[in-house]
Amino acid sequence: MAKTCSIPAYFIVFFIISPLISIVGKLSPWTNPLPPEIFSLDIANKLRVDLDAIKTASTDFGNLVHVTPAAVLRPSSINDIVDLIKFSHSHSVPFGVAARGHGHSSRGQAMADNGVVVDMSSLNNNGGGDGIRVSWSPALGFYADVGGEKLWIDVLSDTLEHGLAPVSWTDYLYLSVGGTLSNAGISGQSFRYGPQISNVHEMDIITGEYNVDIHRFWLVTSLSHLGDLLGTGELVTCSKQWNSELFFAVLGGLGQFGIITRARIVLDKAPNRVKWVRLLYSDFSTFTRDQEKLISTTALEYLEGSLIMQQSPPNNWRSSFFSLSDQSRIASLLSQHGIIYCLEVVKYYEHLSIDTVDEVLAFLSVWMWDDRMSAVIPDEDTFYCVGFLRSTGFNDWEVLDDQNKEILQVCEKSGIKMKQYLPHYKTKEGWMNHFGSKWNTFQDRKSQFDPKMILSPGQGIFNSV
Ligand code: FAD
Repeated sequence: MAKTCSIPAYFIVFFIISPLISIVGKLSPWTNPLPPEIFSLDIANKLRVDLDAIKTASTDFGNLVHVTPAAVLRPSSINDIVDLIKFSHSHSVPFGVAARGHGHSSRGQAMADNGVVVDMSSLNNNGGGDGIRVSWSPALGFYADVGGEKLWIDVLSDTLEHGLAPVSWTDYLYLSVGGTLSNAGISGQSFRYGPQISNVHEMDIITGEYNVDIHRFWLVTSLSHLGDLLGTGELVTCSKQWNSELFFAVLGGLGQFGIITRARIVLDKAPNRVKWVRLLYSDFSTFTRDQEKLISTTALEYLEGSLIMQQSPPNNWRSSFFSLSDQSRIASLLSQHGIIYCLEVVKYYEHLSIDTVDEVLAFLSVWMWDDRMSAVIPDEDTFYCVGFLRSTGFNDWEVLDDQNKEILQVCEKSGIKMKQYLPHYKTKEGWMNHFGSKWNTFQDRKSQFDPKMILSPGQGIFNSV
């Protein structure tokens, strides 16, 4: 653990463990716990209760948690989701509703015990979502209106057709827009452009409940729509200017306040060329010193650090950067030092000459996260995001899980300020500590936008003990 202690003092940590062997238990026979009237609604023929649908919605990428929903909604339109939430809200005992983007959570966050999982990809397959539309306006520049169910890989390929691309990414693109905006969406671009949640102009949200402030409402629309905007399970458009409380609540809001059906994403010109460099270090202090220098003084577009160890070869599923000869040099460095530190940097450029790339010109200040968003970060100007991305067999994942817990304990004991990304806690106290000074706001927003605690129960926040 000594090495962990030497990690600089402020960081966000995230763990993804996923057992490679899939064991889904046999589902025992059950009586459907949903109110029977649901099966006479218009959405009834889109509610799936068959074993296949239930099994898929009972697991996720992590394969650690298995929770059985009562049904899966395969919506063909956004109205189907509105109808489902309204029905749950109107019932004397509301049931949980969880949007499932691409199910790449690790701890059952997109599951709903005895509730309904909304398979967002169904909007995509049925053409019932918002699709991907690229536009330009004098105020916003280029942007894309994107369905919350869309995967980032699709956003990239569609926007590239216009010579454009989002400015902030996740490193892995087979994640849904709604899923990453509910967390933060971080990658090597975050230091420069902010996380994905900092690059959204506007969203459409289906809330658990919404009461529009009449004064603000007057400014946005005409009175004839008043009836549409008061009540439950409503589709509300929000931005920094309009319905801003909902806007900031949803960004990093762990799915607690509403289902994102459309997000207006910041675009910029896609680069013609990029220079992609990896710098290897044997000394940890030099590695971190250079990393901090680069984020504060250069005009790079991407910067990420990683550790190369004997058990994690330099080329893996994320990248095939190193040539065979580089790999043997790295192997000899590894046998000498035991561990190698790697900085991966990217510079976009336009022309064939790469002279400009090597010039370190502009002074950039580090991007700061908007504190009004639900996402929490350590209260420091500079912090590290440290990811532990490990896969394991089904029988020994607990060993890695224990190591993760140990890392958290070391941070706590040593006074290292730390927040978990993709957090999961079993107790209310754990969540209160996680949100810290934002906890009261988070709770107030839940009372405002989902007082019946319908949305995203799999996060275990308001149903924790
Ligand atoms: P799901 O697992 O389906 O849902 C996650 C949560 O969001 C649930 O609570 C769900 O109810 C809610 N939700 C889903 N859709 C919506 C919606 N439309 N509206 C409101 N709430 C919704 N994260 C990064 O930031 N950067 C990375 O580079 C990165 N790489 C990853 C690589 C892998 C292989 C994996 C497994 C995960 C990675 N993650 C990364 C984490 C990832 O961003 C989160 O797990 C994210 O939630 C997954 O998106 P999803 O679409 O699969 O969401």
